[in-house]
Amino acid sequence: MSAGDQSKIRIVQVELDVKRWLARPPTVDEVRPGQCPVCAAPSRPAGGRLGLHGHGLRGRHQWGPPELGAAAVLLEILARRFACQDCGAIITVVPRGILGRRLYGARAIALALALWGVAELAPAEVRRRVSPLTIVGATAATGWASLRRWSRAVRAGRLFPMVRALPAEASLRQVAARAATTLAAFAPGPGGLPIESAAFLGARM
Ligand SMILES: [Zn+2]
Repeated sequence: MSAGDQSKIRIVQVELDVKRWLARPPTVDEVRPGQCPVCAAPSRPAGGRLGLHGHGLRGRHQWGPPELGAAAVLLEILARRFACQDCGAIITVVPRGILGRRLYGARAIALALALWGVAELAPAEVRRRVSPLTIVGATAATGWASLRRWSRAVRAGRLFPMVRALPAEASLRQVAARAATTLAAFAPGPGGLPIESAAFLGARM
């Protein structure tokens, strides 16, 4: 696939959580987007032909704890794909919390940023709690590059864009802490949860 094709692939989240999606993957008609997210052609023009055709299922992995307090797993979700008949875009529809081009789900990343940025756990300990992989050997002792990568993505506005920017001199760990507290504020319910739990529940994208 060329770089040009990448621009015509879109991830669209729908308001279904992973648990319900796994219990019964939605049909094509249930999750067909209202319009193409690339060219804005309507998917069901009045009296016209269908603009977005079902384009099969594609397995997508989501790593991390599936629910608050659960052990991390490697989950496979069958995403629904659609093909735009006007511009050729391929649209992948996923449940809430699945991020495009990232192995970990939004909630797992929020949890990791809170444990690293706010609870100030060592990267290796964060990895032990959030990653489904058991790493042994040299890498296990030295940290977890994903924490810095995610924090850089937050800083650049590519991940959790609702997080307000920090001054350029802020450390990546401070960026992680800001992201965690921002996401925690979106947690439903009465509050009073530990920050990492609230960040997990509040991560919506
Ligand atoms: Zn289109």
